[in-house]
Amino acid sequence: MWNLFLPDFYVNDIFEIDFDCLRKKNIKAILIDLDNTLIPWNSDEIDDKLIEWIRCGKEKGIKFCIVSNNLARRIMACSKKLGIPAVTGAFKPGKKIFLKGMEITGTSIKETAFVGDQLFTDVLGAKRIGMMAILVKPISKNEFFWTKIIRRIERRIIELMDRKGLLSKF
Ligand SMILES: [Mg+2]
Repeated sequence: MWNLFLPDFYVNDIFEIDFDCLRKKNIKAILIDLDNTLIPWNSDEIDDKLIEWIRCGKEKGIKFCIVSNNLARRIMACSKKLGIPAVTGAFKPGKKIFLKGMEITGTSIKETAFVGDQLFTDVLGAKRIGMMAILVKPISKNEFFWTKIIRRIERRIIELMDRKGLLSKF
């Protein structure tokens, strides 16, 4: 039960993700959440550092695909700006959206990692199908009213995992 919420790695932000380490673990693709993982919630702030991060990952042989529960129109606009594909029409933590993502990247579950900022959608969804999960701290405090409530529970669980020494950095 615990294992379904336990990320393989826990980092402050996406820039702490070590592409070389992932490649050594035979990871060839990253499925990535959009809001509060890649960019602040409901914003379209895309800076050079982010573009450079994606370029660097691609250069190291990592494919990317956005997997988000937000509106298709917004996801596709960000996908275009970032130059990486995106999945729409299915929702995390359901399995279908992860399978659709892997269809786009052409990788197997063991060759794919998921990166996101929420335990109950991102980490749970990835772990349910046996995929590596990387949890990042949310970029901004702005989010849906409902997510803010969920965050309180999330923080308690993360603190507990941390105290038990279960969280790994790169
Ligand atoms: Mg998110």
